[in-house]
Amino acid sequence: MSFDGKIRVEYARDLHLPDVGLWLDPHRSKPFAFVSHAHSDHVARHQQILCSPITAHLLKVRYRISPERMMPCEFFQARSIAGFQFTLLPAGHIAGSAMIHINCLNSGATLLYTGDYKLRSSRTVETASWLKADTLIMESTFGLPRYVLPPAEEIEKQIVTFVSDTLDRGDTPILLGYSLGKAQEIAAILAAHDLPFLSTASVAAMTEACRKMGMSLPEAALFHDHVPLGFSLIAPPQAVRQAAVARLPRRRSAIMTGWAIDPGARFRYRTDAAIPLSDHADYPDLLRTVELVEPKNILTVHGSTRELAAALRQRNHNAWSIHGNDQLEFPLG
Ligand SMILES: [Zn+2]
Repeated sequence: MSFDGKIRVEYARDLHLPDVGLWLDPHRSKPFAFVSHAHSDHVARHQQILCSPITAHLLKVRYRISPERMMPCEFFQARSIAGFQFTLLPAGHIAGSAMIHINCLNSGATLLYTGDYKLRSSRTVETASWLKADTLIMESTFGLPRYVLPPAEEIEKQIVTFVSDTLDRGDTPILLGYSLGKAQEIAAILAAHDLPFLSTASVAAMTEACRKMGMSLPEAALFHDHVPLGFSLIAPPQAVRQAAVARLPRRRSAIMTGWAIDPGARFRYRTDAAIPLSDHADYPDLLRTVELVEPKNILTVHGSTRELAAALRQRNHNAWSIHGNDQLEFPLG
């Protein structure tokens, strides 16, 4: 137990809070883990899984994880377990994505773990909320100053323009985004602009799972091997290599990703266009998160961890990359 006003954080391939007995998004099976959201790099078969109700549903539908292992917690409803109070907050990343705020009832020490998140609002996901915390563990996917995303309206305009131009040429627009999260956001944007579309099977399955949990999305019309004139196709990035999509005549594809900020992204993704629709915080929002949470200690995880931590130290924050110096335990504070 930590009595010095801090909740201890350990990292040995996975993030662990030894005082709490909780693992954060571990890759390997653990006795008790917080799973922030249902993207595959955050999911494993733990004995007990703390997550949001939507994530619990997605874990069951997508990964066949037994509901008996899950402890679904509604957003904003504090829950006390063994001397700690846990509060899940919307992370704004994908359906059901959560941050976790932990309060040690004994010492009053607090910790916020963001998981994957974004601050800006979107059409399909509850906008992120935060609580102040002594220790902030934050993702840093776009932790370099060049990752500044355009305003949401401008990104939507790029999508609508790409679709309209492609249809005007008599071609088929193919919009590529991960089947859980990005694909539903693309669907909502197209629907808002009265642009009809089909979805591949994996996209349709995730859209249906989200609809079942109350998300307001149009029912997915399924793609088989033909896209009617005037329609777009929403597909996961790997679908361009699948026969049914690769066979489509006169297709033009656009990848939807924050990495579209990088010059030449469309060449890397082998698409005709790259549009910076992202479900991660951009660099200015990463910095803003620190202002909002007002932490005494910051740990950066995922992506440009060292660069973001260095930039935060220059701003007089006590910030460290999780990979810094290969330490097993972080001497926070
Ligand atoms: Zn994710």
